Amino acid sequence: MYVCGPTTYNYFHAGNARMFVVFDMIRRYFMYKGYEVRYVQNFTDVDDKIIQRGNLEKMDPLALGQKYIDEYFKDAQALNILPATVHPKATEHIPEMIEIIQGLINTELAYEVDGDVYFAVDRFSGYGKLSGRTLEDMKAGARVEVDERKHHPMDFALWKKAKPGEPAWKSPWGMGRPGWHIECTAMSLKYLGAGFDIHGGGGDLVFPHHENEIAQTEGYLKGQTFAHYWMHNAFLTINQEKMSKSLNNFFTTRELLEKNPGEVIRFYLLGTHYRSPLDFNDENLGMAQKGLGRLQTSVRLAQQALDRKGSAKNEELEQELFKAAQEARESFEKAMDDDFNSALAYAALFELAKTMNGYGQEHPVFSEGLAKAQGTLIELGGVLGFDLLHPAQRQVENEEMLAKVMEIVLQIRSKSRQKKDWEMSDFIRDAFKAQGIIIEDTPQGARWNIKKF
Ligand SMILES: [Zn+2]
Repeated sequence: MYVCGPTTYNYFHAGNARMFVVFDMIRRYFMYKGYEVRYVQNFTDVDDKIIQRGNLEKMDPLALGQKYIDEYFKDAQALNILPATVHPKATEHIPEMIEIIQGLINTELAYEVDGDVYFAVDRFSGYGKLSGRTLEDMKAGARVEVDERKHHPMDFALWKKAKPGEPAWKSPWGMGRPGWHIECTAMSLKYLGAGFDIHGGGGDLVFPHHENEIAQTEGYLKGQTFAHYWMHNAFLTINQEKMSKSLNNFFTTRELLEKNPGEVIRFYLLGTHYRSPLDFNDENLGMAQKGLGRLQTSVRLAQQALDRKGSAKNEELEQELFKAAQEARESFEKAMDDDFNSALAYAALFELAKTMNGYGQEHPVFSEGLAKAQGTLIELGGVLGFDLLHPAQRQVENEEMLAKVMEIVLQIRSKSRQKKDWEMSDFIRDAFKAQGIIIEDTPQGARWNIKKF
């Protein structure tokens, strides 16, 4: 599998987190099914954005790129994303890119103009086959300024001539740096070879990035297939709006992790089928936290029972547990075999947890059936990347405790209001607000909730 990695000019954003978690889940399921997965995810560590940010921060762009490579691993670990088999960096594969570009020039699929090299889209007959666009549509819809140097307005840069102060490498066309698309071609071919199984990425990469990758790679390989399957995850919205800097709802994963355990964010991201849009908001995140908490609680209660010796065995319940474990595995696999429907796979886990809870209440002692059911729940949770036996934090207990405390706080505040002690009432509201806990007065009485982001 080849999955397009981050451009390392910042912490990766929440939309990227969805992509990395989704493909990590797919990889883990293949591993569970017995496939040996070679997983390549690159770092785009030279790019316009990195150069801009480097100039802004008065930092060498290559050092800036390295900084955010290091930060990537911290956030990926918090989300329990497995490291790739290979994490190639673009800047370490410049000779491979030059070789491919030269090959494309030799077969007239690319041309050089003043130190820039462009791919000639109309020389590759399959251009548009991934995105379903035609060159005519693109030409009509394109708002590209006419660049006299290009043969066709959709031609894209394979090599960019160096501007003063930019990182640059020697090439047959002078000093310069690679275009973004060619990086993925060079690194995927090097580590996976032609005709590898799966190329993945976010839906926003279909065009132009992946379309261009196909054109230049299959052009270079003289028609050989580049990747057999293309998989794309749908986008992430924030409170029903597209994530963007101008709307001020642009979140890095690091910011989300400061306020939420990584496992909750992961649980949330996989709670919707990967090809459906997903909205990020406090309510959905809260539901994910509760859902994951329920599974963790089941595993923990079962563990407490399993740790107790006893002999209150009920043969009927035992059989029920074995059956529930078997059925959960079957439903889980059925859901995952149907285009990795992790949302439906969750349902299998909840069903099993429910049966376990029922048993634990009846007979809180060790039994083979309970051990089997709990082991299955832990194993299947692990396939999706959750460690149900070792929660990141005791969030369930914390939540229950907080709910009890807040109930008392609201009672105190209500008493102060009855006495018309508005000062105390407002003080309580404001003090909690400062801690991110919002108290609202409604006709049905006061309510509270936590502002997550
Ligand atoms: Zn790519």
